[in-house]
Amino acid sequence: MLQYIDVGAQRLDAYEGIADEATLAELRRLGAELRGTRVLHVNATPYGGGVSELLRSVVPLERDLGIQADWAVIAGEPDFYAFTKRLHNGLQGAPFSVTPHDREVYLRRNREAAESMRGDYDVVIVHDPQPAAMRMFRPDAAHWVWRAHIDMSHYDAGAWDFLRPLVLEYDRHILTMPQFVPDGLSSDTVVIIAPAIDPLSPKNMALPDELVRRIVEWNGVSADRPLLTQVSRFDPWKDPLGVVDIYRQLKRRHPELQLALVGSMALDDPEAWGIYAKLVEATADDMDIHVLTNFTGVGNVDVNAFQRHSTVVIQKSIREGFGLVISETLWKGTAVVAGRTGGIPLQMPDGTGGFLVDADDWADRVDELLRDPERARVLAELGQRRVRERFLITRLVRDELAVLVSLAD
Ligand code: UDP
Repeated sequence: MLQYIDVGAQRLDAYEGIADEATLAELRRLGAELRGTRVLHVNATPYGGGVSELLRSVVPLERDLGIQADWAVIAGEPDFYAFTKRLHNGLQGAPFSVTPHDREVYLRRNREAAESMRGDYDVVIVHDPQPAAMRMFRPDAAHWVWRAHIDMSHYDAGAWDFLRPLVLEYDRHILTMPQFVPDGLSSDTVVIIAPAIDPLSPKNMALPDELVRRIVEWNGVSADRPLLTQVSRFDPWKDPLGVVDIYRQLKRRHPELQLALVGSMALDDPEAWGIYAKLVEATADDMDIHVLTNFTGVGNVDVNAFQRHSTVVIQKSIREGFGLVISETLWKGTAVVAGRTGGIPLQMPDGTGGFLVDADDWADRVDELLRDPERARVLAELGQRRVRERFLITRLVRDELAVLVSLAD
């Protein structure tokens, strides 16, 4: 089954003065060329994680440009999500194996999704591996695009062997970085496009300082003491327990420091519950550590407030497809200390936005910024400029529409 997702309306004109004029003009030109094109985006969850964040903003803009865009989510069951999360992990480098039962559940859910597509589409854009087999069951849609958001620079061979025959026949393969392109895809079909953030979404829109403070306090965190935050799904690749270790090292030097681990539970991420339970247990002894989730009431505006208010934001990723949270944080003028992995250095190369870490000096790097707020401010400002130039949603939609135009040629 496919579950169609409602999204709000948005107008391209609203980005005047935020995005550059050339991008807006190009978007209008591409929109005129594609007017009436029927496009379906499919992914695996309507909330939690970067892909749903992107689609919620991309689809309304495509509609405003005259494209008949829909967004639908493939419906699963616990065994489906458990398998697709293992596949996701395998594509990021964890050991992978597949049983006949996994294969049966995966293909059945994909067939049901393909059969419940509403009407005919000119282009189906499939995001990530969960719905990738749908194409096998609907060869009638005119064009299929596979958009991979994960870091496949170190994939497990078995995971890619499983997925490759399912995505090989797609007309285009969009990846975030050249390093992520797996073996066996033709250079004729590969397109490199980085994700981006929506400066007007509730996650990123401007908020008055007083409201930011109230939201942080509302979540049980003092707005008057230093705050270190990681905003991420509870995922082993994001290493939230590692963040707790770093905080504990820093706490000796900064007794007033607080830690917020803000993590949403995505529908397609069954691993999150186990990691959440471990985190709650590991942090029960310290009232200054706050583990906050969508189940404790944290929504987009709260994430916005935490990214704005934090003294430093940390992103201790081991692998990272892109890491929207980096651009989200830099956009708000907050400095970041993050792992030098995947799409993170693309957003904050050395000396921009904060510090990249690839050794064991996490605590020292955060400490430098905690002790020198002026340095943190200057670095964050450079990061903010980079986001404005390269990682706003208007650039992303422009690049994706250019791919759709290339399909029609
Ligand atoms: N996010 C959220 N609430 C949370 C944790 C994460 O809204 O409690 C959002 C975060 O703001 C970002 C997305 O989920 O927009 C995560 O995207 P990212 O690319 O950083 O990582 P992914 O989850 O896709 O691996």
